[in-house]
Amino acid sequence: MTDHAVSRVVVVGAGHAGDTFAALLRQAGFVGELIVFGDEPEPPYHRPPLSKEFLDGPLEKWLREPTFYAEQGVTLRLGEAVVEIDRAAATVTSSAGLVWSYDYLVLATGAASRALLVSGADLDGVGMLRSLADARALRRRVLGACSVAVVGGGYIGLEVAAGVRAKGRPAAVVEREERLLARVASPELSRILARHHAERGTAVLTDSVVRGFEGEAGRLRAVVVTGPGGEERRAWCDAAVVGIGAVPRDELARAAGLSCNNGIVVDELARTDDVRILAIGDVTSRPVRGVAGRMRLESIPGAVEQARQAVATVLGRPAVGREVPWFWSDQFDLKLNITGVLRGQFETVLRGDPGAGRFSLFHHHDARLVAVETANAPADFMVGRRLLASGQPVDPVRLADPRVGLRDLVTA
Ligand SMILES: Cc1cc2nc3c(=O)[nH]c(=O)nc-3n(C[C@H](O)[C@H](O)[C@H](O)COP(=O)(O)OP(=O)(O)OC[C@H]3O[C@@H](n4cnc5c(N)ncnc54)[C@H](O)[C@@H]3O)c2cc1C
Repeated sequence: MTDHAVSRVVVVGAGHAGDTFAALLRQAGFVGELIVFGDEPEPPYHRPPLSKEFLDGPLEKWLREPTFYAEQGVTLRLGEAVVEIDRAAATVTSSAGLVWSYDYLVLATGAASRALLVSGADLDGVGMLRSLADARALRRRVLGACSVAVVGGGYIGLEVAAGVRAKGRPAAVVEREERLLARVASPELSRILARHHAERGTAVLTDSVVRGFEGEAGRLRAVVVTGPGGEERRAWCDAAVVGIGAVPRDELARAAGLSCNNGIVVDELARTDDVRILAIGDVTSRPVRGVAGRMRLESIPGAVEQARQAVATVLGRPAVGREVPWFWSDQFDLKLNITGVLRGQFETVLRGDPGAGRFSLFHHHDARLVAVETANAPADFMVGRRLLASGQPVDPVRLADPRVGLRDLVTA
């Protein structure tokens, strides 16, 4: 399909991926009709601040000026979900009962917080964090709480715990795995962050499983945890946040018979197995630079990259180059920047001083970098990204030698 045949593009999901796609498509000169459905009532907003600044300042950080959509001829249909796709007719049906045809359909439905299926998870005081509505509820809950339990030691859980401690309230992080961030960070970073949080008063419980919550008159009063030795204990708390990962919202795609495997399966041009349907963002299982097969990335840079891919496909333009994945997180005074993907075997070189709050972890295998994790070291992060992007060999001995400047490794 070429640009000339495309008169209407329908986007499902007004999150970071869908919104960026619409903006970039217009910027690239698309003159047809552009309709974006969002099931949330608010205009597209930034999610990262929801776990980083949820106790201070405005939560509503819109992605664009309110006038942007009308000026750019983007029809935003907010508070209206797409409930069905008819691939044969190339139409979608919305929750308002309206049927819309499309030349291209872009699925950008994101992900949902994974539910914790234990008793008491429905008590008043227990919640998750994905949307603006969740963040507003979390703020109320935490500000009115005496003690907060965070279930899940992933990035979102740790950011929330740091926010709670910054307000001086007791916080405990309960993590099932033997270390924090087990799926996404190196063991070294996990150790450093566990120490950083513990030193700032967070109770970090690893190898510990939440069995349930207990309440009184419908209100949360305690979390029940089984520890590493199998011992059960009750910790008093009056607010709890469950941050145990996210699941792709691929139900529409599955119902329409598109290939899904932990997300909608797409190629490096955001194409599904239907030529008229593209998918982008957290909902996709996609090829990622430096990783064999496919994976689901949950990050803003990943969503933006795929929005660019989808624009190229709709306009019949050349594919955009694949980017090295990256991500950021703020925890207390640490501004973390992470690039690359940790899989399989690797060795680690530490530069800087974790105790001083400024360090970089360079992970390498077979004389190539595979990932870089930095804290308060933006220059190291930039060098790491360049080394990963170029794929050039690195000498582990020089990498580990503090007398060798990192920039010299790029040009060497
Ligand atoms: C608390 C939090 C903190 C984060 N921090 C960071 C960070 O520091 N750095 C980083 O890189 N990433 C971060 N992320 C991840 C990042 O926000 C996501 O990767 C990004 O939002 C993905 O964009 P998306 O458009 O794919 O999904 P989303 O932003 O989830 O948007 C999808 C939208 O589609 C809507 N939708 C779903 N189904 C339908 C339907 N049928 N009809 C209409 N609308 C529908 C959803 O309600 C949602 O509004 C964070 C995420 C969260 C939740």
